[in-house]
Amino acid sequence: MKLMRVTDPDQVLKIIKERFNPLESETLVLENAGGCYLSDNIYAPENIPDFNRSTVDGYAVAAKDTFGAGEGIPAMLECIGEVLMGEPAPPISPGQCCLVHTGGMLPEGADAMIMVEDTEVTGTMVQSFRQVAPGENVIHRGEDLKKGDPALTKGHLLRAPEIGLLASLGITDVAVHRRPKVGFFSTGDELVDYSRPKLEPGQIRDSNAPALLYLARQLGAGAEYGGILPDRFKAFLEQSRSMLTEVDLLVFSGGSSVGTRDYTARTMQELGQPGLLVEGISIQPGKPTLLANCGGKPVLGLPGHPVSALNIFKIFGRAIINRLAGQAEKQLKPTVRATLSRNISSRSGRTDYVRVKLEPAAEGLAAVPVFGRSGMLRTLSEADGVLIIPAEKEGLGAGELVEVEVWN
Ligand code: AMP
Ligand code: MG
Repeated sequence: MKLMRVTDPDQVLKIIKERFNPLESETLVLENAGGCYLSDNIYAPENIPDFNRSTVDGYAVAAKDTFGAGEGIPAMLECIGEVLMGEPAPPISPGQCCLVHTGGMLPEGADAMIMVEDTEVTGTMVQSFRQVAPGENVIHRGEDLKKGDPALTKGHLLRAPEIGLLASLGITDVAVHRRPKVGFFSTGDELVDYSRPKLEPGQIRDSNAPALLYLARQLGAGAEYGGILPDRFKAFLEQSRSMLTEVDLLVFSGGSSVGTRDYTARTMQELGQPGLLVEGISIQPGKPTLLANCGGKPVLGLPGHPVSALNIFKIFGRAIINRLAGQAEKQLKPTVRATLSRNISSRSGRTDYVRVKLEPAAEGLAAVPVFGRSGMLRTLSEADGVLIIPAEKEGLGAGELVEVEVWN
C-alpha cells in the first residue's frame, strides 16, 4: 500500500482559501438574505439618523439656558409646545423649550434634552433642576452613519443587526454570494439506507448521510443526497460525475483511505483537473481525509467512521462552505473556558480534537473528556464540544485552563 502523505490542518485551511473562490453574486430581497455574505461594500445612501433625535422623554433646550441650574436654583423656561412623533419640530428661541418624546426630532435652536424627571411644570413654565451640556441626551444627524460612509463591507455576514441597518437605510435588495449547494454520497458495500428496519449480518445503516446533510444545512448551504455508492470504481465515477455538475461541493463519506479497495481518491483524480490536493491530514480523529479540486470545484473525501466524518466536516466542510459563501477573513468560533478534569496524552506531530462534556465546577466549568473509539457516535452525542491539542503538545494536564469549542 502506498504511504500516505499527510498535511497539517492549518495548511489544509490555507489550501481551501487559496484554491477556491467565493461563488458568484446574486441579488436577493433583503428579507431573504439573512445568513448570506455580502459580495460588495454597501455605502450609506443617507444619514442615520437624518435629523437630531432625542434619546429621552423631556424638553429640548439650548444647553446654555440651563447653565448654573441646580436643586435649589432651577432654570425657568417657557414651553412652546410639543413635537409630535414623525412630525417636524417648530424652532425655539432663547429661553424657550419644547416637549419631545424619545426618538422625536429636536427643534432648531435646541442642542440638548432635559429629562422629564429633572423638571417641574407649572402652566406653560418648565423649571429645570439640572443643567445639561450641549449634545446631552441627543443623537446627532449622521452620528450612527454618515451619508457616503461604508455601512457594511464585502464578506460581512448578514445577521439580524445588519438586516435592520440596511432596512433603516431603505435598502431593499442586496448583492450577496450565492449559497453553496453540497452533494453527498455515502460509500461502502456494507451500507444500507437507514430506513431499513432489519439488517442482514454484516450490514450497517448509513448514519452519516442524514447527520452530514443536517450539518451542511446548519451552515446555510443547500444539501442533496445522492445515495449509497457500492465499492465499484465505475459506479463511483459515473454517479459522482453527474452529481458534480449539479453542486458546488461534492462530499463522499467512506472509502477515503488511499488503499486498493478505496475508490474516492481514484475518482477524484478522474473527475477533473488538477485533482487531489490533500491525501491525509495530521489530525485525530479523521486522518484519512481527501481533498481535491476537480475542474474548479472542491471535492471532499471523509473517512467513513461516523465520528471522524462529523469531526472533519465540522472543520473542513465548514471552511469550504464558508469560503464558497464568501465569508471575510474573520472566523469566530464559539468557545468557552473550562478547567480540564484529568490528564490527556496526545501524540506530538498531530492535532488532536478531544470530545469533552462541560460540567459545572466549583469555579466556572469543568471539561471532562469523553473517551471512545473513533467510530462510536454515542461518545459524540455525550460531548458538548471539543478541545484542541495542538500538534506540538504532548498532552494536557488536569487543572489546566482550556478553551472548548462548543458544537451545536
Ligand atoms: P471506510 O472509510 O469506508 O473505510 O469506513 C470506515 C468505517 O466507517 C467502516 O466501519 C464503515 O462501515 C463505516 N462507515 C462508512 N460509511 C458509513 C456511513 N455512511 N454510516 C455509518 N458508518 C459508515
Ligand atoms: Mg468503505
